[in-house]
Amino acid sequence: MEEYIKEAENLLMHTYSRYKIVLDRGEGVYLYDTDGKKYLDFGAGIAVFALGYGNTEYNSALKAQIDKLLHTSNYFYNVPSIKAAARLAGASGMDRVFFTNSGTEAIEGAIKLARKYYYKKHHTGDSQIIAMNRSFHGRSMGALSVTGQPSYREAFEPLIGGVVFTDLNSIEDIKAKINEKTCAILLEPVQAEGGVYPADEEYLKELRRLCDEKDILLIFDEIQCGMGRTGSMFAWQEYGVKPDILTAAKALGCGVPVGAFAAVEKVCKAFEPGDHGTTYGGNPFTAAAVNAVFDQYEKLNLLHHVKEVSAYLEDRLDELAENHKEIKERRGKGLLQGLEFEYPVKDIILKAMDNNLILFSAGSNVLRFIPPLVITKEHVDEMIEILKKVI
Ligand SMILES: *Cc1c(COP(=O)(O)O)cnc(C)c1O
Repeated sequence: MEEYIKEAENLLMHTYSRYKIVLDRGEGVYLYDTDGKKYLDFGAGIAVFALGYGNTEYNSALKAQIDKLLHTSNYFYNVPSIKAAARLAGASGMDRVFFTNSGTEAIEGAIKLARKYYYKKHHTGDSQIIAMNRSFHGRSMGALSVTGQPSYREAFEPLIGGVVFTDLNSIEDIKAKINEKTCAILLEPVQAEGGVYPADEEYLKELRRLCDEKDILLIFDEIQCGMGRTGSMFAWQEYGVKPDILTAAKALGCGVPVGAFAAVEKVCKAFEPGDHGTTYGGNPFTAAAVNAVFDQYEKLNLLHHVKEVSAYLEDRLDELAENHKEIKERRGKGLLQGLEFEYPVKDIILKAMDNNLILFSAGSNVLRFIPPLVITKEHVDEMIEILKKVI
């Protein structure tokens, strides 16, 4: 591995402090590096590989589409994207879908759609989006503009204007910031990257009420918490609070780069031909991946499985927290869990990797658990044993 790493460090831009592991192949919920070492994967390529590695039906669907047709451009229709749109609209409760190549592009599209909606109503672009402190929405300039983490933003300012930040779960704070310029409220129902902070149900219900009253759009970024991770297809269904615009990516393609923003009809009407576009988005290959993902979710009854295994994971993490006073709190929903420590978790992560377990952090003091959705209770036990030893 050392040779590969040396070469990579000479060739790739230094935007990451990577772990000193070169991954080579995957099988089920295990990964292998180029030296043959095996790892239990509780990161899933950052909440991407919901189905785990080597699902043969998913792989076959991709191979078949490669031989048939990879790309068409959006000047034409293609059958896989029509089917994928129907699946995603059905699963998310939205009416129309726009496919992108990544999560950050889904956020860009959602921002543009919200702004166009406001513009059509007020004939001015002088509007504001309220976003959350500690949020993460992506790295392109628009998505960075609504990301509430100063360290990601500072060097790249000026970003797009008209963004106001508020604290998640503080109704007083957001009420003080809503005014006639407010066009949309954007949040992750479960903040993931920022430290695994779920929104309160009452908070989301109150946001929905405020948005309805003032014709403000409610946008949920479900790129990480969506696609079954919380035990419902989308987290809004766990809360019973439906957004006007929703973004998805990560597990939507399970390894094939695809994202989407979707919205209810009243909002979709704001877009007209020429308002937005993409060369690759929704091409037959990535759409075939989306269809194969939905097929497997149904076939494996994955939502039911997530409910069961995540309840077990919660119990085991709670037990761990009880026995280690340096663990301050467990937070999360479904298979998106965080353990907050009193100290930075970097060393725990490195030691876990030495001991054949892949884990990520969410902020400096929080261990993040985002395994493939197909993990079993036995895998949870295996992870807990390694973690105990490492702590
Ligand atoms: C990962 C992520 C994004 C960005 O997605 P990319 O595909 O990396 O551009 C946006 N929002 C949330 C909540 C995410 O977890």
